[in-house]
Amino acid sequence: MAKRRGPDKPRIRRVSGALKRLESAAGFRRMLRVLKPGPILICFLIGVTGCATGPREARNRGAVAGSNAAEETAHPPEQIERVPTGPQLAPPATTLPEWSPSQARGYADTWISLGRWSRESGYGTLRQVAFGPAPAFALSTTTGVFFLRIHSLVANWNGLELHLGFEPQLINDRPFVHFLDLKKTLEPLLRGFTSSSATNRTVVIDPGHGGQNTGTISVTDGVYEKEYTLDWACRLESLLATNGWQVFLTRTSDIDVSLSSRVALAEEHKADLFISLHFNSAAPSQEQTGLETYCLTPAGMPSTLTRGYDDDPALAFANNAFDTENLQYAVLLHRALLTVVRNDRGVRHARFLGVLRGQNRPAILIEGGYLSNPAESRRIADPAYRQKLAEAVAAALDGTLDAGGQRSETGSRVAGVPPPASECQPPASDSQSSNSIPEKGQFH
Ligand SMILES: [Zn+2]
Repeated sequence: MAKRRGPDKPRIRRVSGALKRLESAAGFRRMLRVLKPGPILICFLIGVTGCATGPREARNRGAVAGSNAAEETAHPPEQIERVPTGPQLAPPATTLPEWSPSQARGYADTWISLGRWSRESGYGTLRQVAFGPAPAFALSTTTGVFFLRIHSLVANWNGLELHLGFEPQLINDRPFVHFLDLKKTLEPLLRGFTSSSATNRTVVIDPGHGGQNTGTISVTDGVYEKEYTLDWACRLESLLATNGWQVFLTRTSDIDVSLSSRVALAEEHKADLFISLHFNSAAPSQEQTGLETYCLTPAGMPSTLTRGYDDDPALAFANNAFDTENLQYAVLLHRALLTVVRNDRGVRHARFLGVLRGQNRPAILIEGGYLSNPAESRRIADPAYRQKLAEAVAAALDGTLDAGGQRSETGSRVAGVPPPASECQPPASDSQSSNSIPEKGQFH
């Protein structure tokens, strides 16, 4: 995406007004002290990012949370002191509030009992899978297992890392999830997803950067991000075109293209989908590796990444009309790419990405690995590896992978197909001579 990316651990987000008010209650302060992230929680978090071992443990541990709706609405006397009730916390909702983007901020105080919601919605069984100061829960459904940890923004869907907008809370020993995470993360996943139909196959591929805007630079070979993104896009174009997609690239050579022009191109071609391709950097650190996939932050929700930009949850953009599809495509492509990229840094939300905000179609941005890491940048420098990146995206879009990451019966129709003729001009790797450093804020 850009140079100068520092390590961006999930931060503690702005706490909702409700919780701030609740914190003023002595009992709740005591509870927060007890649950505050300490060394043990950090250990647990490391475990979470390592994926789905939790759910497997869960089945052995037993302990069903929220098996009785009455239990969740009642407040036994001994628990009142520990977790005070109050008007700020919505009672476990039998019926969820109606979703309305214009009222997104109005949901700030709405917390939903995950156990009761999943049971009443028929989504599946909730089990507690870790105890102690960082309890964790697994929701087993027909489409997969959703795993969350109390007070952690990092969740997990079928082994894939997801970043929530709000930390799940433990209330009366029950896990509560913020309404916006329920609506904008859980529901799109649980609903299931099949990729594009035969009639909606126009895609705009956006090779990040170009021209004076070089993007970041590889520590292995000094090649700029803009060159690798173009190469990846050209390979992807060939694969998708071979399979009958209408494919348009925002650039086919090393030229400057404004963010607004990239959005306009998708509009001009009435694209069904927009995919922006990037590589990442944590320079000067060389440690960070892995895959990140971004979609626009839903209104009302804090972003995973802000990069110092204002992140006003009150803002809603055109692309927020596609929150559900954005997340579904992000998960679909992220999972496919994890068959190639070794480290999972998760599906994330950002609000500052100008190439996504104005899109009138599902749109995602992929950071395909770190050019600042010697080993990963060496892999990216290998044309065969970039071909695999292209094949993973093409296979996912073409329906040969389903949302659960399983190969469907159609198999891999795209692998091994030689690229047809294209206008693409991926630059040779002599780009050391290529010029300027991108201006601050030029990343997208
Ligand atoms: Zn970039």
